[in-house]
Amino acid sequence: MATATAQGTTYHNFIDGSWIPSVSGDVFENRNPANTDDLIGVFQKSTRQDVQHAIDAARRAYEHWRLVPAPRRAEILFRAAQIMADRKVALARDMTREMGKILDETGGDVQEAIDMTFFMAGEGRRQYGQTVPSELRDKFAMSVRQPLGVCAIITPWNFPMAIPSWKIIPALVCGNTVVFKPATLTPLSALNFVKILEEAGVPPGVVNLVTGGGGEVGNAMLVSDEVKVVSFTGSTDVGRTVSEQAAPSFKKVHLEMGGKNVIMVMDDANVELAVDGCLWGGFGTTGQRCTAASRVVVHEKVYAAFVNQFVARAKALRVGDGLDPKSQMGPSVSQGQLDTVTKYVAIGKKEGAKLACGGEPLREGAYAKGFFHQPTIFTDVAPTMRVAQEEIFGPVVSVMPCRSFDEAIAIGNNVPYGLSASIYTQDINKAFAAMRDLYTGIFYVNAPTIGAEVHLPFGGTKATGNGHREAGTAALDVFSEWKSIYIDFSGRLQRAQIDTADL
Ligand code: NAD
Repeated sequence: MATATAQGTTYHNFIDGSWIPSVSGDVFENRNPANTDDLIGVFQKSTRQDVQHAIDAARRAYEHWRLVPAPRRAEILFRAAQIMADRKVALARDMTREMGKILDETGGDVQEAIDMTFFMAGEGRRQYGQTVPSELRDKFAMSVRQPLGVCAIITPWNFPMAIPSWKIIPALVCGNTVVFKPATLTPLSALNFVKILEEAGVPPGVVNLVTGGGGEVGNAMLVSDEVKVVSFTGSTDVGRTVSEQAAPSFKKVHLEMGGKNVIMVMDDANVELAVDGCLWGGFGTTGQRCTAASRVVVHEKVYAAFVNQFVARAKALRVGDGLDPKSQMGPSVSQGQLDTVTKYVAIGKKEGAKLACGGEPLREGAYAKGFFHQPTIFTDVAPTMRVAQEEIFGPVVSVMPCRSFDEAIAIGNNVPYGLSASIYTQDINKAFAAMRDLYTGIFYVNAPTIGAEVHLPFGGTKATGNGHREAGTAALDVFSEWKSIYIDFSGRLQRAQIDTADL
C-alpha cells in the first residue's frame, strides 16, 4: 500500500490486486487542513494509461466475479464491515487529519461505511426479483437482477469513506467490478477502505483504485467504452460534465450533486430545539455537507427570539483542530474552499444581508497554519440573494424571515437544488403538508437537514440529482439491470397476446 522514504510516506494505486506506482512517476501531496506543516503522504498522480490498466483488470475480473454466488460475495463484504468496525478509531483519526472534520464526525463517517457494508452484504441473500403468473398455460415468468460490468466510481472529499461505501459495496454485491477515483484531497481514507476490501478477500481486479485529478483520471473512465456505469458524487458543474462525457457511450450515469438545503422554523416551533438543529445542520462538518442547512426560514413571530439564540450559540462554538476533542468545528478542507467562503461573505455583505456574527477567516496563533473561518450568520437575507441561492459549502448560514407557512414553503422550494429540507413545528397538519410540498429527495420533521440513515434511499431532485438514488435497496437499481425471463414448458408454440382464446 505504501513505502516510507525520507520525504514521507508514498502511497500507491491498487490495480489487479497489486499496490503499484503510476506510470507517470509523478505524485501529489496530501496535507492536514488544520496544520499544513503536517504532510500526510504523497499519492500517485495517475495517467490515462494507469486508468486503462485498471479498466482492463476490472473487465477480466468481472468474468469471474459475476459468477460468484451473491451470498458468497456478501460473505467477503461482511468480513470487510467487521474489519472496519475493529479499526474505526484509527480510520477516523486518519480521516480527521486529511479532511479536518472533528473526530466525532469522522467516527460517524466510518460508522456509516460500516453500516452500509453490513446492510448491503445482507442484500447478497435478497436482491429480490418478481415472479408473476404468465398469461399463457404452462409458462413461467420472472425477473432477475443482472450486473452490468465495470463501474467507475468518482467521489468527493467531504465523506471520504461513507460515500465510496455507498457506491462500491452495492456495485460489488450485485456482481460488478470497480475502478475507483477518490477526491485528491482525501486519498488516504480511500486507500484505507480499499485495503480493508483486499484484506477481507475481494479477489484481484474486482476493486481497483487510481488516484489523481478529475480531468485526467476521471475523464479517462468516462470516455472508456468498457465502463458501463458511472456513479459520481460532487458538484453540479462537474456532474454536468460527467453526464455529457459519458453520454456518447450510453453509460448508466448516477449523479449526486450540490444542495442548498432549508430549515423552516414555524411560529409554533420549539425554538430551542430548532436552534440546536440549525447549529448542527449549518456548522456540522464546517458546513461542508451536501445536506448542510445553509438556509433557515423563520416565522416573523419567533424571528427575534430565534436569531438571538442562534447567533449567541454560533459565537460560542469552539473552532479548532478536529483532532482536539474540545473542538466543535474544524477547518475548511482547503485554501480553495476557504477562498470560496470569504468570497461569499463579501457577496452577502455587498447584497445587503446583515452580518450577525463571524465573517472572518481565523489566522492567528493555533489557526495560523490551517484553513479556519468563524461560524458566520447572515440575517435579514432576501431569498433571491446569491448567499440564499448558491451552494457555499462552508460555515455560512443565511436566515430569512417569513410571514406564513405558505411563504416558507415557497422560499424553501425556490432554489435550483432539491436535496434535503426540514420543518420545525408542533402542528402535525403543517408537518404533513410541508412533507408533501417540499420538492426534495429527503425531508425531516423537528430535526435538521442532515443525518440520513443507510437503509433508506439517498439523493435529490432538480440540480442535485438525475433521478437515481443511492443507499437503501434503491442503490441496487443503479448497479444492476432487470432481466425478464419466460420459460415455456408447454412443448408447443404459444404466442403472447395472440394464443389466448383456448384458455
Ligand atoms: P467536485 O465536483 O469538485 O469533485 C468531485 C469528484 O469529481 C472528485 O473526485 C474530482 O476529482 C472529480 N472530478 C473533477 N473534475 C472531473 C472531470 N472533469 N471528470 C471526472 N471527474 C472529475 O466536488 P468536491 O469539491 O469534491 O465535493 C463537493 C461537492 O460535492 C459539493 O457540491 C457537494 O454538494 C457535493 N456532494 C454531494 C453529495 C450528494 O449526495 N448529493 C454528497 C457529498 C458531496
